[in-house]
Amino acid sequence: MDSTRALPGSTRALATEAVHAGRDDLARQGLHAAPIDLSTTYPSYDSRGEAARIDAFAATGAEPEGPPVYGRLGNPTVARFETALARLEGTDSAVAFASGMAALTAVLLVRASAGLRHVVAVRPLYGCSDHLLTAGLLGSEVTWTDPAGITDALRPDTGLVMVESPANPTLAELDLRAVAHACGSVPLLADNTFATPVLQRPAEQGARLVLHSATKYLGGHGDVMAGVVACDEELAGQLRQVRFATGGVLHPLAGYLLLRGLATLPVRVRAASANAAELAARLAADPRVTRVHYPRIGGAMIAFEVAGDPHEVIAGVRLVTPAVSLGSVDTLIQHPASISHRIVDADDRRTAGVNDHLLRLSVGLEDVEDLWTDLDTALGRTCSLQGARGSGRVSADPGARGTARQATANR
Ligand SMILES: *Cc1c(COP(=O)(O)O)cnc(C)c1O
Repeated sequence: MDSTRALPGSTRALATEAVHAGRDDLARQGLHAAPIDLSTTYPSYDSRGEAARIDAFAATGAEPEGPPVYGRLGNPTVARFETALARLEGTDSAVAFASGMAALTAVLLVRASAGLRHVVAVRPLYGCSDHLLTAGLLGSEVTWTDPAGITDALRPDTGLVMVESPANPTLAELDLRAVAHACGSVPLLADNTFATPVLQRPAEQGARLVLHSATKYLGGHGDVMAGVVACDEELAGQLRQVRFATGGVLHPLAGYLLLRGLATLPVRVRAASANAAELAARLAADPRVTRVHYPRIGGAMIAFEVAGDPHEVIAGVRLVTPAVSLGSVDTLIQHPASISHRIVDADDRRTAGVNDHLLRLSVGLEDVEDLWTDLDTALGRTCSLQGARGSGRVSADPGARGTARQATANR
């Protein structure tokens, strides 16, 4: 994607918006850093005016004009992050929540409140998103399908089609434009957590809702939990009303940290992606690795399958942190079948391509040679322990592994 061209609805390129969007008024106020407004309530001597603003919010969900009313209705610091993210995703609006799951919950509740409880979804999705749909906790009903089956799966009560691309954890990619076309008038929700608006803007390809676990790349430092939905203003109003009614708001300090995180998002994503492309190539050439999944659009996530015991790789890393989550400045590795996708039924998990040998690596900003040294040592551990146990799976017949090896890396 050419990130130097101007964003839709803007005269500026992504790198410029990343450091300026949501901050346009600061210099005129004599400020440089965004202020953090921690107020939970806002005094007003004009209760007639406040009643009118509350009525207006109840009617459309638009951000109240004038001073804020109450923290659950909206917060000025969080609003700066929302403005900035909407600009980067090329949407009218964005609505922030306490976590990615709170954001998805609000989307499902908005659609269910319109009587549209049926969801069509493509696996794999992030494990908890899969679980939320499968368990029907919010009264929704899900039909799982592949992209080619979406149109046939639609019903009169279908309120949402949900996809991830690249998907967590296999990095499977979809043609979002074709998927959006298959949805007809049903809104498509694309989870853009892995790609970020730096690599892909799903709204340009027809997605009406773009979801992020902002906990990941948008925050980028492993110290903020948040979610956000970028969309048109009509849906944003409904999402704000659900957020007000159910309370899954983002803390203003988190809003501040996310705005700060966005400023370096393009630089972080590009640098981490360069590291990841190099590691994906080395893994693809390594006989201890049977398969590497690296998206065509690039990015900082790698999934790979090992010939030996994946738990030994997790136990063997020293520089890389063995932890769930992703998108931080430091490199994390985890075993999806044990952790991020544990909650998904084992058969469904495997059918979706999440096999027991798969590891997911979130590549950070460390020196790539240091990362490789650590991974190489951890991979060596699977071999020597396998050998010691006499399983012979690793040492025997490198030719057979060579044919199974496959990399979708594109560099
Ligand atoms: C982590 C994640 C989520 C959930 O976000 P939380 O902030 O943990 O609630 C949703 N989608 C994807 C792709 C994720 O990786």
